[in-house]
Amino acid sequence: MTELLFNNDAYLTQSEAVVTNVDQNSIQLNRTIFYAESGGQPGDKGEIILGDQIYKVTDTQKGNSPNEIIHLVDGDIDQSIVGKECEIKIDWELRQSHMRMHTSCHILCSLIDALITGASVGAQKSRVDFDVDPSLLDKEVMNQQIEEIIKNNFPVFTKQISGDEFRDNPHLAKGAAVSPPIIDNKVQIIQIGEDKIVDIQACGGTHVKSTGEIEGLEIGKIENKGKRNRRVNIRFK
Ligand SMILES: [Zn+2]
Repeated sequence: MTELLFNNDAYLTQSEAVVTNVDQNSIQLNRTIFYAESGGQPGDKGEIILGDQIYKVTDTQKGNSPNEIIHLVDGDIDQSIVGKECEIKIDWELRQSHMRMHTSCHILCSLIDALITGASVGAQKSRVDFDVDPSLLDKEVMNQQIEEIIKNNFPVFTKQISGDEFRDNPHLAKGAAVSPPIIDNKVQIIQIGEDKIVDIQACGGTHVKSTGEIEGLEIGKIENKGKRNRRVNIRFK
């Protein structure tokens, strides 16, 4: 089990941890700031440092349970590091791009009242697939709405609800294919806007603190992926 520090503070760029397990090409820690690939958001890269030894983390993935985090590293791992303290650092530029893009996907979702059938978050562009009546998608109108949401600088914050509360509020799950992780009977809810709620949904990803941080977002191509399925691409200008 790994304590997921990014759930409380997605802006942590470095921390201390203890190595709990090593494999041929992976390290596990008692706590981490590395986000593991999930829900369309890629895993983090960075470094695990033990004195002179620096292990480059090339990707971060989930293990067998939602809070088992596997840090994939380059090169041979000294098996004797288990139990030792280390310093951990993420590639902040990359993560911040993912946070901006991930939050952008929530903004996009708030504009389209439809089930999400797929999503992929990148550093500069992302896509979200919707099961939607295509006549409801007006790129120009949506771009104006996006500009307005960014200009209003709405707060973005998380809260935890119980697994039962989540099951009683099915509107909080917007994905048709994937369910957000329920860890220790708790589900993370992401809300954009306080007095006026722009978007609210269950999500285990990392997000920026306010919509003003995603300046320059626009809708790219809208692709036809089947009778009702539309792929909406977003990017930074
Ligand atoms: Zn999210």
